Amino acid sequence: MTYLDHAATSPMTDAARLAWLEASRQVGNASALHGAGRRARAVVEEARERLAAALGAHPTEVVWTSGGTEADNLAIKGLYWARHAADPSLARVVTSAIEHHAGLDPVRWLASHEGADAVEVGVDGEGVVDLAALEEALAGPTALASVMWANNEVGTVQPVAWVVELATARGVPVHSDAVQAVGHLPVHFGDSGLTTLALSAHKVGGPVGVGALLVRRDARLTPVSHGGGQERSIRSGTLDPAGAAAAAVAVEEAVASAAGEATRLRALQRDLEERVRAAIPEVTVSGPPPGDGRLPGIVHLVVPGAPGEAMLYVLDSHGVEVSNGSACVAGVVQASHVVQAMGRSDADAASTLRVSLGPGTTAAEIDALMAVLPDAVARARRVSSR
Ligand code: PLP
Repeated sequence: MTYLDHAATSPMTDAARLAWLEASRQVGNASALHGAGRRARAVVEEARERLAAALGAHPTEVVWTSGGTEADNLAIKGLYWARHAADPSLARVVTSAIEHHAGLDPVRWLASHEGADAVEVGVDGEGVVDLAALEEALAGPTALASVMWANNEVGTVQPVAWVVELATARGVPVHSDAVQAVGHLPVHFGDSGLTTLALSAHKVGGPVGVGALLVRRDARLTPVSHGGGQERSIRSGTLDPAGAAAAAVAVEEAVASAAGEATRLRALQRDLEERVRAAIPEVTVSGPPPGDGRLPGIVHLVVPGAPGEAMLYVLDSHGVEVSNGSACVAGVVQASHVVQAMGRSDADAASTLRVSLGPGTTAAEIDALMAVLPDAVARARRVSSR
């Protein structure tokens, strides 16, 4: 099997699995006052400290969540509700057109259910957010801005520092979905100027169902769910010591190896792109060229005339697992809103493949993909011409 879908989820590392196993042996609710509860709490707090240290945050800024989706929802709805309640004129939410649905849909929900004035700022042909349009959008009374650190489909890294500068000058808090950036790019929450930052453990070798929202200490967030008042009353729910321990270990490992991995993966990325261009000249590789402007692990292809889903199934039948990059609804791949926002046609947005590399990826796996890709493209094109 050739697994080239690390941006969807990356296998759990041995160290994360061991940390999970060790912590899971411990009984006790981390909010209980007895010895078992205090031991469970100690596991959570050690994990909090380690996660915070790996990402340039203070431990009190870590709010554990069930993953990236919950962290994005909490940040976007929580900041909107808190700011709008304090000043009802603050109704605007400025975001980008290429956010993951976990970031885009809460904004659209606020617009359709709460009367928010949502502005989705466009991107250029490489998927970089239009800063002039963003600045213009921020001129209105804005509750928050939300721009992802790096895009999950095409890998384009966003100018988050500029977004923060423009927003902060107007007193607007900024949330960033850094689910694809953490463990791949240098991320320092304290230096970023962000108000909130979302991350997810399973993208970096941790367990599925664990993530965190980093929340600046002076930020005010209205909770999405109410209950036992855990996590500074921002996120109620019984804490998950094993998940937290494993997530912290995975993020630590990924952050420690990120620079070396980036160099190694960029070499594989370049090699793959050259070979794809040589074998299938009509293909375009999305986003900026390999380098600081793009995640080191993502190669996103637009293959005119070849339905993405058909390519994916042929590759899968050869034991090569990749993705189309865009969302699946009830098992059906949707045309990519990211590729559309980058100015491509609807047909192109449905003719995509995302190859995503990770810690275990080898040159032999790139060879395995290249051995079957031209056939997958030819067969997918025959399907579409029927
Ligand atoms: N944001 C981005 C950029 C992602 O790539 C993903 C996962 O696909 C998410 C959010 C959602 O994270 P989770 O799967 O932990 O809910």
